[in-house]
Amino acid sequence: MEIPSFPIAIMMVATTEDSRIKRTYALAEAKRASSLLKGEGKQTIMKIANYFTLKLRPIQPRPNLSNYNFALDFTDYIRNAAIIQDKKWKLTNRLLSKGEVFLTTVEISRLLEEEVRRYIEQKLQVKVKSLPPSIMNRVNRLKQLFYEKRGKTSWEEIPSEVIIAAYPPCIRRLHETTSSGRHVSHIGRFSLTTFLLNIGMTTENVIDLFRSFADFKERMTRYQVEHLAGLRGSRTKYIPPTCDTLRTHGVCLGMDEICRGIRHPLVYYRRKLRVLKMKAPVAPGA
Ligand code: SF4
Repeated sequence: MEIPSFPIAIMMVATTEDSRIKRTYALAEAKRASSLLKGEGKQTIMKIANYFTLKLRPIQPRPNLSNYNFALDFTDYIRNAAIIQDKKWKLTNRLLSKGEVFLTTVEISRLLEEEVRRYIEQKLQVKVKSLPPSIMNRVNRLKQLFYEKRGKTSWEEIPSEVIIAAYPPCIRRLHETTSSGRHVSHIGRFSLTTFLLNIGMTTENVIDLFRSFADFKERMTRYQVEHLAGLRGSRTKYIPPTCDTLRTHGVCLGMDEICRGIRHPLVYYRRKLRVLKMKAPVAPGA
């Protein structure tokens, strides 16, 4: 029962064609895998890590490092830890030796959770042509349950046209700085790009925005923007960091009234759209 349940679940979730359902499912499976891994021995963890081609090696507990069971190449560490919103995972807060980060079993299980999540999200990209009506009924029931539980509001409801007047202050500032070719930090570029991609701007328009930089390189920019849009590599569409993270990096500037009640720039955008709509119909590109 358990073995076929996975491909069937993938097929059903993929058929919903709802990225929120897909993300939720991938995350839940990844969390389950991570919690099971915490109780596993080194051998099993090494097997899973090898499957994901992580450069991981088991280490013998040392007198002053008795908690650490594994050492992971720092590039593999960064790829998985970068998405975790906790200061403890910053590379500067880790024990690093000869390019390897020391980890406990619980910590490597958490990092493998990210690998599993991406793996499942990639599987969910599959296009299912048609399913028998009895299964479609179940898929529709699943969607209904999801919307009842989570509410229908989703980022997918953001209109496809870009409404500049609804940008949050931080993004407005990043947009202006970028357009004028002035320097923007790495997190600033990441936040602006992911924000614009998530509110419906095309990759071409996002790439054009960076043309005014003196160090603009089309090939490299295209690769990075398409990667963040989920068109390359792990096929994960990235979202901007939370307000807390942007605040930590000094990107949260010029907070206004709406900012006080939200924790994410995309939520700001949705709220501001509502406010603008109440005042007057908004023209695209306004
Ligand atoms: S509170 Fe959030 S949305 Fe508002 S300016 Fe700061 S980071 Fe941007």
